[in-house]
Amino acid sequence: MGCRYNFIIGRIDMKNILSYWDAIATKIKETEHILLLSDYDGTLTPIVEKPELANLSSQVKEYLRRLAGNSCMTLGIVSGRTLRDLRERIGVDNITYVGNHGLEIEGPDFSFVNPVAREAEPFLHSLSEELSQALVMIKGARVDNKGLTLSLHYRLVDEVQLGEVDRIFHRIVAPSLISDKIRITPSKKAYDIRPAVDWGKGRAIEFIVQRLNKKLAKGNKLLVIFLGDDVTDYDGFYVVNQNKGISIFVGEESAEPEVSYFLRSPNEVYQFLSMLGGVVELNK
Ligand SMILES: [Mg+2]
Repeated sequence: MGCRYNFIIGRIDMKNILSYWDAIATKIKETEHILLLSDYDGTLTPIVEKPELANLSSQVKEYLRRLAGNSCMTLGIVSGRTLRDLRERIGVDNITYVGNHGLEIEGPDFSFVNPVAREAEPFLHSLSEELSQALVMIKGARVDNKGLTLSLHYRLVDEVQLGEVDRIFHRIVAPSLISDKIRITPSKKAYDIRPAVDWGKGRAIEFIVQRLNKKLAKGNKLLVIFLGDDVTDYDGFYVVNQNKGISIFVGEESAEPEVSYFLRSPNEVYQFLSMLGGVVELNK
């Protein structure tokens, strides 16, 4: 047995990508263009108590800058945060930013907003007001109105009040769920509320892949890599697998994502980005 370590997540035997680096480096060298997409919270930054405190270190920004500046690479950040928030936090040029779980996308030379989501914005705004008012007495509960989607964060709520938060939340969203106006996705210590449109991170990734394929010279080999840590990333993993890309789950939770590889933590993600930077540099 060598020193490679495998890790079982659910039924899936997951491999740490750092332990398979030679094979990955070979694959990258055989590729003409790489589309590297990464989630933000829990992937590029550790999960923190207050989402507004999840900042990127200057070192990681430097890795991203280096990757984004490579002509063989297209870099994108795919997040539940708003585009504006992502831009402010990352501040690297030449990146495609995907916000609100894919509903808004902005690249160096294009921008897109899902039309159904745009139309639902006033309705989500009133839902956000209603939730905020109903939860006003619950310390630590926070409704984040992100325009095209909402998040209810309950990480800071006292455990004895969690049941109450759940009851209030479900009472308020129930009519909109029944009339099929919204969808709810549970994420890490939060509920994400989105307009009822079949468009998440997976569809956004598909959109970017198709766009890039049109732009690249015909027959140019494209390798898609996507890193994510949460349930909202699973449809992204699916699309990447369909495109014969490399899907990477970040974390050690007992979920069952169908992915090619895993990394244990954002720290290992940084190592991965640095190593990837080294290989694509040689590819230029
Ligand atoms: Mg995440």
